[in-house]
Amino acid sequence: MKIRVDDIKDQPRLLRSEEPLETLPGLTAVQESGDCEFLSPVTVELTVAREYDHIRVKGNLSARIRLNCSRCLGDFETDLASVFTIFFRKEDRVALDEEEVELAEEDLISVTYQGDEIDFAPEIAEQVIMELPLKPLCHESCRGLCPVCGVDLNEQECTCAGSSFSLKFSALKDFKFDK
Ligand SMILES: [Zn+2]
Ligand SMILES: [Zn+2]
Repeated sequence: MKIRVDDIKDQPRLLRSEEPLETLPGLTAVQESGDCEFLSPVTVELTVAREYDHIRVKGNLSARIRLNCSRCLGDFETDLASVFTIFFRKEDRVALDEEEVELAEEDLISVTYQGDEIDFAPEIAEQVIMELPLKPLCHESCRGLCPVCGVDLNEQECTCAGSSFSLKFSALKDFKFDK
């Protein structure tokens, strides 16, 4: 998804497209890793406008995806959505110095471009990857698998509750493990 810099004017311009996975760098690898399956192309809406010394891009992404629940290990489908704003600046020495200042402001993403064309694909791919949950949950209240017998507690009760193991387990569950 590219645009010629000369075609960007002060008047905001809406670009809309359906981006197949292969056009977004890194997403095919994400899919092959098994963490996320893309069930649709990524719908991209970008509002592009020239502003002061930069180009402002407001973006809206969505895609239908299938994830694997980190508690019950079941597959589930969900909508991925991302809203973001990126400032593109022409790459030169001054802009590189400025970039460090710019990055201190958390919500603003500042990117440089070279030449007379901007390719949005790398930034779009990055936004998609940032939206993928580290620990996907099929539902907020997913009960997960029984740590003793392994049944899916969303579907079935088991008789392990109350055993010494599960008491120990529940005493520990307030701690956060970083694996
Ligand atoms: Zn689940
Ligand atoms: Zn059990």
